[in-house]
Amino acid sequence: MSAEVIDGKAQAERLRVEVAAAAAELKAKHGLVPGLAVVLVGEDPASAIYVRSKGEQTHAAGMHSVTLKLPASASQAEVLAAVETLNEDPAIHGILVQFPVPDHISQAAILATISPDKDVDGLTVINAGRLASGLPGLFPCTPNGCLILLRNALGELGGKRAVIVGRSNLMGKPMAQLLLQADCTVTIAHSRTRDLPAVCREADILVAAVGRAEMIKADWVKPGAAVIDVGINRVPARDPEAAAAGKTRVVGDVAFEEVKAVAGWITPVPGGVGPMTIACLLRNTVQAACRLNGIDNPLG
Ligand code: NDP
Repeated sequence: MSAEVIDGKAQAERLRVEVAAAAAELKAKHGLVPGLAVVLVGEDPASAIYVRSKGEQTHAAGMHSVTLKLPASASQAEVLAAVETLNEDPAIHGILVQFPVPDHISQAAILATISPDKDVDGLTVINAGRLASGLPGLFPCTPNGCLILLRNALGELGGKRAVIVGRSNLMGKPMAQLLLQADCTVTIAHSRTRDLPAVCREADILVAAVGRAEMIKADWVKPGAAVIDVGINRVPARDPEAAAAGKTRVVGDVAFEEVKAVAGWITPVPGGVGPMTIACLLRNTVQAACRLNGIDNPLG
């Protein structure tokens, strides 16, 4: 059997079209333009690319986009003051501080300052608590994107065995909560899990969020399972000359070719989970704008 390859790029594009339609409806009916502010501290090139892409996609969806760039030398007090100003700005409904931030700035202090109702990354303890308690809130974008891909592939998820490898606050834990709310029976595995291949083999849904190149092999996967690969790992280019010149390529946490022969569904890297993340960020911004203004969310 060969797995159906889930096209995350196409699904993200569809979601962005839905978000743009919702933004147009909010503007026409309520004069409300959802606004997203992204704060970048320092000049990390990878972060700068992500931030530019977020700004462009926000703009393309007909939403208000603000990018605030602070120098790497900015003090923690300056960064927190910038966040506080955005908390008070009625044109801004979503605030995202691009991580990592320079070492002298505390990520926890930033998350404690972002208004939970504008926390479109879903990383504040309030939103983590809301998710764990089954209350409405803003939840992390990448796990949300994975859930959409799974629902579109499998339909009803209730009763399925889900195994998530990875327990970060950004990915593994919120993914587990979302799948639990979808009535899956959920196991969270991590670096101390015993006999990880056997645990993974129990999964109808296997989500890999580890950060280890191609760790999940074909014999770890139950035939017909849905395999969602969150990992983004840089490895040397296939071509030895290119590799010697320092060229790299991106692979996931799943050994794609061999697992594809066993799984029922699989996400590729790149082009699977990755594109869904920004689309879900835009969706969260629409949700935040609606909730802050007491308006029904056209996206439901
Ligand atoms: P973290 O490094 O925060 O967490 C990794 C998790 O994997 C930890 O819980 C760790 O366990 C576990 N782990 C590490 N090694 C092993 C092992 N050998 N066996 C079992 N478990 C292991 O990473 P993130 O959750 O932030 O990200 C995970 C991956 O997803 C990364 O590649 C990242 O780049 C990618 N990512 C992709 C996104 C996207 O948009 N597509 C968004 C976010 C992340 P322990 O807790 O015991 O140390």
